[in-house]
Amino acid sequence: QAKNVGGNSFQFFSCDLSKKQQHRLDIENRLRTAVDMGEFQLAFQPLIDLTTTRTVGVEALIRWPQADGSYISPGEFIPIAEETSLIIRIGTWVMKEALKALQRLHLQGFTHLQMAVNLAIGQLWQPGLVQDIVDFLKQLDIPPSALKVELTEGSLMSDVQRMEGIVQEFRRAEIEVAIDDFGTGYSSLARLRSLPITTLKIDRSFLFGTPDNQSAVKMVNTIRQMAESLGIQALAEGIETEEQWRMLQALGCPLGQGFYFAKPMAETALLERLSAEI
Ligand code: C2E
Ligand code: MG
Ligand code: MG
Ligand code: MG
Repeated sequence: QAKNVGGNSFQFFSCDLSKKQQHRLDIENRLRTAVDMGEFQLAFQPLIDLTTTRTVGVEALIRWPQADGSYISPGEFIPIAEETSLIIRIGTWVMKEALKALQRLHLQGFTHLQMAVNLAIGQLWQPGLVQDIVDFLKQLDIPPSALKVELTEGSLMSDVQRMEGIVQEFRRAEIEVAIDDFGTGYSSLARLRSLPITTLKIDRSFLFGTPDNQSAVKMVNTIRQMAESLGIQALAEGIETEEQWRMLQALGCPLGQGFYFAKPMAETALLERLSAEI
């Protein structure tokens, strides 16, 4: 309570959590039970072959609906889960549900689809992570190459030696590895070259201003070229306009993702979309 105890104004402030801190604590507390209560959902955003505009895969994105019908964004609660190690339980749930959804998609005939799953850095230190995923893939009868794990550039550069080991472990298991939000971190090209990643996701901030702004276009193309020269597939994130798609197609960027093609959607909507593509 806002009471001045014995003239000690420091105590007054330290007892009074700011609105922001209260909100964060509230999220943290509710995150503790959210997996058990079945509160999370997955949305799926199509990954597009920019030449044919066909869906070649989907990215699983976690959703946390609230009682009032609103959603707390993963951009807000994933970092909190990371700080509190709740990320392990949440991340395990995401991987299992995403792979079960992929199995259903494959069983319905969409066997060409890949599933991309985001992994937070806090998940990567789990002993046996790769083996657990491999076992689960086997159990579901899904080829490992149908899974692509997305690691952010920041996490890949945090402990390079260890990350190299983990990426190699995924690749030995034939699981694909994407570097997410590329361009927002500080990776050296030498380090990038030493990682056997399969896809480079160009952060959507690089599409701002394109195609009108020539230097923005050049920047995107430089990243795309670098990926190509390393034998890595480039995927442009955040394509919002037809003009951006046409520009990327002209530059020869193989893959993309964005609201222009499709927003993240529920599995039923995804199935409808996929059926319409046949
Ligand atoms: P991300 O992995 O880079 O995912 C792409 C984000 O960009 C998604 O936001 C997606 O809805 C959004 N997006 C896609 N296309 C467009 C576009 O054309 N325009 C704009 N403005 N946005 C677009 P979302 O779902 O809010 O996720 C935000 C971030 O939260 C993700 O970024 C990822 O870092 C994290 N995240 C989401 N789900 C998970 C998860 O299951 N596990 C982990 N560890 N992180 C997750
Ligand atoms: Mg991602
Ligand atoms: Mg991304
Ligand atoms: Mg992003």
